[in-house]
Amino acid sequence: MKIISTPFELKEYLKNEKRTVGFIPTMGALHEGHRALILRAKEENEVVVVSIFLNPTQFLKGEDLEKYPKKDEADKLICKLSGVDVLFFPQASDIYGEDEVSLLAPKVRGYILEGESRPGHFNGVLTVVMKLLNIVNPTRAYFGKKDAQQLNLITLMVKQLFMSVTIVAVDTVREKDGLALSSRNAYLSPQERQEALKIATSLRSATAMVMRGVLDANTIVENMREILAPLEISYVAIVNREFVQISHVELGNSIILVEVVVGGTRLLDNIWL
Ligand code: AMP
Repeated sequence: MKIISTPFELKEYLKNEKRTVGFIPTMGALHEGHRALILRAKEENEVVVVSIFLNPTQFLKGEDLEKYPKKDEADKLICKLSGVDVLFFPQASDIYGEDEVSLLAPKVRGYILEGESRPGHFNGVLTVVMKLLNIVNPTRAYFGKKDAQQLNLITLMVKQLFMSVTIVAVDTVREKDGLALSSRNAYLSPQERQEALKIATSLRSATAMVMRGVLDANTIVENMREILAPLEISYVAIVNREFVQISHVELGNSIILVEVVVGGTRLLDNIWL
């Protein structure tokens, strides 16, 4: 596995690449969720590039940028053992300069739900993803459905800015007990982790309601809020795949989203129905 730390070097390295390139952008502290993206990319591409970059511009003031888990050596090993061909490991100064050009998330879709909890977060996400895609120039880029709004906005950016990369959505990987894997789970105490299981329970209950034919969004959301109580709920919402809130679940075109804060840790999850 080749490890490269500057955009210039990576562009040079991939300049004459004629094979298909699959790209997985990450912020490190890799887990099985990241590995699912890597393995999918390996199945579908001849060359696999992973980036590990803790992007400062997507963190708001007072968020966890400083304490975000760092596992550089373990991450390198995971990438190597997963068959990654190139690991891109830049510093913030390699990616950002002064007086920067940056992208703005759409005024509606970028500022509802997680965008409302974290105003401006998606500007940072779109800007860094654009930079990374321009550096790697992949055939396909892989993103987790767990970050559904991020995935939606990146797909929208690629479409609206007429970019040629194909965005591939990968299913959420969970622990056996249902907790969605996340680098931020490392912040949870054993008791908080137990409380966090209510998220998966609420989503399972919502799915069961839909399977019984209950499609009314308010009824489903109320039931989920009861299960999640007394956790601090940022939002529970039902949207279609365009991220427009809907009053009735449309099978094959809906996402039920939850964000809760457990002991100061923001946890996201969702189910695609
Ligand atoms: P992050 O390092 O948190 O920025 O995540 C990098 C990529 O991994 C994003 O596309 C995430 O959506 C994806 N990802 C994170 N957790 C999971 C998971 N549990 N299952 C599948 N994909 C995930």
